Amino acid sequence: MEIIQFPNEILKKETEKVDKIDKNIRRIIDEMKKIMVKEGGVGLSANQIGYNLSIFIAKPKDKFYVFINPEIIEMKGEEIKEEGCLSIKDTWGLVKRAKEVKLKYQNLSGKEKIIRAKGLLAHIIQHEYDHLKGILFTDKAIEIYKTEKND
Ligand SMILES: [Zn+2]
Repeated sequence: MEIIQFPNEILKKETEKVDKIDKNIRRIIDEMKKIMVKEGGVGLSANQIGYNLSIFIAKPKDKFYVFINPEIIEMKGEEIKEEGCLSIKDTWGLVKRAKEVKLKYQNLSGKEKIIRAKGLLAHIIQHEYDHLKGILFTDKAIEIYKTEKND
């Protein structure tokens, strides 16, 4: 299983809502977790591995977050940070994001939840949320550079 690379059209398409969180959806999420860990990413959306579904995962530190049918319902503040993307190799950029976000989503049991995030998790949420809308960080970056990240 490979991560879909820019400029594949799948990455430009808005994803569809998940109707029912069944065994198949859970299998896709497991697959996403495995690939993200293998590739050393901190976030991944379902369309990055070819599933046109409104799901993304995040792992800013040790904890895995799974967001199904997410919707950003509040944004606060402004912050510029460096971002990269598993679908755009060796490319980095500075992106202006909200400092804090409030996200409504469904968890694996289908229950509606709200999370308030800041710091790295807030940035991951906004980057991955954009993926679900067919938007890439390079569409928004105020500066883009191609280099290896050295940390
Ligand atoms: Zn990305």
